[in-house]
This record gives sequence, structure tokens and C-alpha cells, in this order.
Amino acid sequence: MIAVTKTFLPPFEEYTQLLKRAWDKAWITNNGELLQELEAKLKDYLGVKHLLFCGNGTIVLQMALKVLNIKGEVITTPFSYVATTNALLWENCTPVFVDINKNDFCIDASKIEAAITEKTEAILATHVYGNPCDIDAINEIAAKYKLKVIYDGAHAFGASYKSKQVLSYGDISTCSFHATKLFHTVEGGCIITADDQLAKELQLIRSFGHVGDDYFVAGINGKNSEFHAAMGLANLPYLSTIIANRKKASEYYDALLAPLPLQRPKALPGTDYNFAYYPVIFNDDASLLKVMAALKKHAIVPRRYFYPSLNKLPYISNGASCTVSESTAERVLCLPLFDSITREETEDICKIITACF
Ligand SMILES: *Cc1c(COP(=O)(O)O)cnc(C)c1O
Repeated sequence: MIAVTKTFLPPFEEYTQLLKRAWDKAWITNNGELLQELEAKLKDYLGVKHLLFCGNGTIVLQMALKVLNIKGEVITTPFSYVATTNALLWENCTPVFVDINKNDFCIDASKIEAAITEKTEAILATHVYGNPCDIDAINEIAAKYKLKVIYDGAHAFGASYKSKQVLSYGDISTCSFHATKLFHTVEGGCIITADDQLAKELQLIRSFGHVGDDYFVAGINGKNSEFHAAMGLANLPYLSTIIANRKKASEYYDALLAPLPLQRPKALPGTDYNFAYYPVIFNDDASLLKVMAALKKHAIVPRRYFYPSLNKLPYISNGASCTVSESTAERVLCLPLFDSITREETEDICKIITACF
């Protein structure tokens, strides 16, 4: 079987060598030495001031909303993984969906102002597939209306915009290090800010809101373990190779699929892509279903990602229509892309797709 992704795993001994350090100290969680080392390396790699390694890419969204004290309406994208919307609902915020643009499928910044009301407190947008949102336009709007900006950067690790890491933008940026993501720690995520005070508070709420016997706020368990940090430390040295291999595979897809009527994301100028995904957009959902069925016959499993458009979730009551997002969600397929995918596998996939047209 070829699935949409295959988790990169470092040589086993490199992982266990790192684990041994935690083992010898019998210190396996609670701000351990490996976690601190991973945080330092990630900060260095991303060029950001504060970064906290946390339990997953969802809890960090919730921590972001909590630490910024966001309670009212939040302008958000309907084209993301469901965790983006769920985090808002879980924190009792009201998601206000603004449609996406047809180039990179990120939130359409030109439609944000019309959705702002007196209750709007923040913008929560996703850098879709790792391509940056219109960060400059969003900044301008946020400054004008005094809104906080949170970026769900779950896909954006290693991507840069205008020579800065995409994850360095916004009041807060979050990332997921889930096993299906470009860079992973099995389960995990991080939260990033340049604000010293916010970083302090995040540190506190990540660990229940107390330090020893001193209790400050109602925090949560957002921590992560030494076993997870070790996986991050073991994977990090391979990151540039992983991205280079994915780039090669993406370019091969580009060449082989060029004759077909498929749309591909067009990123903003100034984007240096991380090759996190290989989405293709069909002209209609019938062609998508046909291709999916044909691939399935050969045990190739792409993923409808993202589907459905989040404004159509059954538990969303006020879901205004977002026609671009709804239409894209019905027609988008992420093809298998991972560092070890072979040329033959890519060729087979493209042959099957081509035969459907
Ligand atoms: C994966 C993902 C998340 C959730 O991350 P987890 O680590 O699985 O909790 C959130 N948002 C987006 C856009 C994602 O792709």
C-alpha cells in the first residue's frame, strides 16, 4: 500500500542513544533535558524568540486563545484541518468563517474587513499546505481594528516568507509535530511568540498554572515528554534531506501531471516552500472520485484534505456560505508525498491518474 504519507523514522540506534540520557537520569517528562535541548534547537532553526514544545498541535491553539484572552468572535478559515475550528469551539469562541482565495487556498484577506463586528477579537488563519497567508494584509487589518493574530502553522514548519520563517509571524504561531507532518515528534506541537510576557504565561499554563506550591492561573497539561523530544532531536538532522527529497518528488509529479487539467496552489511571491503536501485540484468532484477509486484498486490511498469545508461541519450552526472553500474541498486530493517515495511509485500513481482522463 502507498498512503498519502509515510512517517520518516531516524535510525533506531540514534533514537535509543538519545533516550538513554533520559533513562539514565530516570527523568522522562516535566521540562526535561531533551525537551530543553529540542526547544533550543528549534528556536535556532526557526529564528524565533520563544518556542514551547507542547503535547500536540491542537492544545497549542487552545493555549494561544487562552493566553490572549480571546472570548468573542474570531475570524477564521473554513479550509483547514478540523482542529482549527474545534479549538475555537472548545474555548467557547465563535468562529466567523471568511472564504479563501483561489490561488493558495488561504483565507481571502480582502474579505476579512467585511466580517469584522464589535465582537471580533482575533483572526485565526491557517498557512494552508505550508503556503503563507497574506501576512502583510492581515497585519494591516489587525492593526487597524486592534485584533490579535494567531496562525495555525501546522503545515508550515521550514517554509519561509520574505526570508523569515513563516512560523515567526503573528502574535502567536503554532505548529503540529504529529507523525503525519513534515517534521514530527510522534505526537507533539509547539507555540511561538516574540512577546516575553506571553511566553512567560504560556510556560505557566502549559504546566497546570502553578510553580511548585505557588498557584497562579487555571492552566492545563500542555506538556510533552522526553521520549517525544528525543524523536524530534533524532529527526532534526535529517530535515534538510527530507525536504530535498520531497522537493524532488514534487517536481517529478509536476512534470508527469503537467498535461492534465489539474490546478495546483500558487503561493505568494516571496515564499520558499517546504514541500509539506502535494495537492491537486480537479475540475469537478466526479473526476476526483474516479481517480480515487482507480488509485484504491492499486492500494494507493491519497487523502481528501481538507474535506469538508469547515463551515459545513454538522455542529456549526451559523455557517455562512464560503463558495470557494466548499468548491475546493470537494475537488482537492493530496497525493502521496514523503521523503522515501520512489520515482517508480510516483510514475505508477501518475499513470493511473492519467488513464482516468
Ligand atoms: C494536524 C493539524 C492540526 C492538529 O495537530 P495535532 O498535532 O494532530 O493536534 C491543526 N491544524 C492543522 C492545520 C493541522 O493540519
